[in-house]
Amino acid sequence: MISRRNFIRQSGLVAASSVFPIPEFLKSGPSRKLGVALVGLGYYSRDLLAPALQLTKYCELRGIVTGTPSKIPVWQAKYGIADRNVYNYENMYQMVNNDDIDIVYIVLPNAMHKKYTIIGAEAGKHVWCEKPMATTAKDCKAMIDSCRKNKVQLTIGYRMQHEPVTQEIIRMAGSRPFGRIEKLKAEAGFYNRGGDGSHWKLHPELGGGAMFDMGVYPLNAVRYATQMEPISVSARIENSRPELFKVDETTFFELEFPNGVMAKCKTSFAENINHLKIDCSSGWYELRPFQSYSGVQGRTSSGSTFLPFSGNQQAKQMDDDAIAIIENQDPVVPGEEGLRDIQIVESIFKSAQSGGARILLS
Ligand code: NAD
Repeated sequence: MISRRNFIRQSGLVAASSVFPIPEFLKSGPSRKLGVALVGLGYYSRDLLAPALQLTKYCELRGIVTGTPSKIPVWQAKYGIADRNVYNYENMYQMVNNDDIDIVYIVLPNAMHKKYTIIGAEAGKHVWCEKPMATTAKDCKAMIDSCRKNKVQLTIGYRMQHEPVTQEIIRMAGSRPFGRIEKLKAEAGFYNRGGDGSHWKLHPELGGGAMFDMGVYPLNAVRYATQMEPISVSARIENSRPELFKVDETTFFELEFPNGVMAKCKTSFAENINHLKIDCSSGWYELRPFQSYSGVQGRTSSGSTFLPFSGNQQAKQMDDDAIAIIENQDPVVPGEEGLRDIQIVESIFKSAQSGGARILLS
């Protein structure tokens, strides 16, 4: 059986923590918070990350990168961002000379993650990159290589792996309170009205589609809930609104894990779904919802419950990731984790294009 940790080790992709230099500020007395620059000031930065960065203990919002000049005074006034820490996409590379910024957080359309991760890494900044890591495994590998070469950390914004109830589910893969895991079900999606059809999530060039947007949640969940790597996949796509969706609207995928463990997964822009269930040889447990920003909770076949975490998920994620940098440790979700999901997503699309053929994963 290949455990996930072993997979990452065997793949030889994890950068040893020893390659990361001790940050300068740690050598010079009492630590200051790490400075984060948000790259892309859309929905997730504006509504979730910037507010969460007001709650973090080990990092704070210190810079912005935007292509929309009208956003600059609004963000500066709201968060007290200094003029010297405001960049656009063309001059972002000049951060190399700016010690205020320790980390760039890439919160752009999915197909832009690679380019700006590499610009950040080459400027000597640690990189936090939103999920999905990128739209091809080739891009993911280029991001990992660049961060390794520039001796900076790369971590992917899979917030669930920092969320305490989810972490309990991850521990249960090892403690097996209901015996051997036999099958799983994981579904995440929301009804996307599509608006006027112009949003990048509806277009393939920028990495749109349900699988990249929401499908990585069930995919990542069945991997973390089993602590195993899938060995084969089959998939199919349904589009009920082809005039609006040039990308996958609903994707069904089935993963086979070692020892006959099967996971049935679904992601959709046509339905509100948010459920993870794990069936074992002597019982079951489930989370509903399993990937919301708050209120992740669930129950087990023996009548016990998983109570929701009362803290802020994004603040916890960013503090965990800041601590990994400060302490020179591997992050909770390294780039290799994002790469593995995208390798599987590539096989999911390949299977769907070939009529649902089962594809072996290497
Ligand atoms: P959004 O469309 O609201 O924001 C995208 C930002 O990118 C905008 O500010 C836009 O101006 C900018 N941009 C720059 N170049 C662009 C271009 N060529 N086309 C379109 N926009 C361009 O998107 P979002 O919902 O904030 O998503 C951004 C990233 O964050 C995505 O990778 C998404 O998957 C991720 N995300 C993660 C979570 C999570 O829970 N971890 C939640 C939401 C979004």
